[in-house]
Amino acid sequence: MKKVFILCLLGIFSCSQLCERSSHHSNRDKFTVIESYDSKTFEPETEASTTLVSEQESGVSSETVKAQELTPKLKKYCGDIEQSFKKYKWGKSSCEDFSWLHVRNSVLGKPLIWIVFGNETLIEKQPMNTTIVMCGVHGDEITPVKFCFDLIHDLQKNPGQLAENELLVVAPIVNPDSFFIQKPTRTNARGVDVNRNFPTKDWNANAIKEWKKRHASDKRRNPGKRAGSEPEVTFQVNLIKRYTPSKIVSVHSPLTIIDYDGPSIRSDKAKDLEHHAIEANELLYMMSEKAKGYKVSNYPHFPGSLGNWAGKELEIPTYTLELPSSDHTKTNEYWETFGPAVHYAIKHDMRMAPKKQAARD
Ligand SMILES: [Zn+2]
Repeated sequence: MKKVFILCLLGIFSCSQLCERSSHHSNRDKFTVIESYDSKTFEPETEASTTLVSEQESGVSSETVKAQELTPKLKKYCGDIEQSFKKYKWGKSSCEDFSWLHVRNSVLGKPLIWIVFGNETLIEKQPMNTTIVMCGVHGDEITPVKFCFDLIHDLQKNPGQLAENELLVVAPIVNPDSFFIQKPTRTNARGVDVNRNFPTKDWNANAIKEWKKRHASDKRRNPGKRAGSEPEVTFQVNLIKRYTPSKIVSVHSPLTIIDYDGPSIRSDKAKDLEHHAIEANELLYMMSEKAKGYKVSNYPHFPGSLGNWAGKELEIPTYTLELPSSDHTKTNEYWETFGPAVHYAIKHDMRMAPKKQAARD
């Protein structure tokens, strides 16, 4: 394995994309960008006060987030999820058994839900090995949604899998409007690709230009009129802001690859930062190995993508797992193959010590 890994690293060293110089603004500065969104573009959050969480998912709060009984809105939503499980012959979703958290809604008013495994209250006392797993970013990619539910079922059944310092946050259906319609689509209800709408630094200069040039204005890849204009993007941004994960896994289909965006390995970095980047890259290859040697690929990044924003700009190791297909009959097979890889990623300790964190800032 070691030998393979070193060879892989050599590959990475020769890759200009991973080795490009990334910026070193502080996380706080980066998040300031988020706060300066034009809030008028967001859907009003009038329902937030009646949902499970009394605070916004943005901002780190000292309050404990406690999931309580399902609200009527979430009960109804669980009904939608159950229907989809029936449609795709996935068995029971058990949606109503889980402690969902919910603040924000999609364009069409569906709850954007997430669930936390582990003790969130410890975040302020010690750096946690926190992983965020997101699925259903593109609604026509059916298999990732079931993958996240398989992960949730697994954790619910075996909560002892997580050590005290480990936290897992799962958002199983990031873009519900595109998933629940009769013929699922990639883009959200406003026709925006919510993986091209993150507020990356190059968004204003390049997102629309590249969409027109590289994608001939392909409607499926529309980045939107303004960075961060979509509630499904704000949802992802705020989850990342809230939990400051040490890594992110975003599950898509059907490109049959696993891709990494994050700290690049450069010898001019401080030793501990270089070590962190090596660890982050090593995890990519370990995930591939755990998934029966799944293909590692350096997918090009785009203005407004999660990998570009969280991985390259915030330097949070971000792994995009592209399942082999969107064929809803293959979900058991995919869980069997890729469950161990994601499980390995969750356990892989990528915390940065406070000293390292400060140096990174
Ligand atoms: Zn996708």
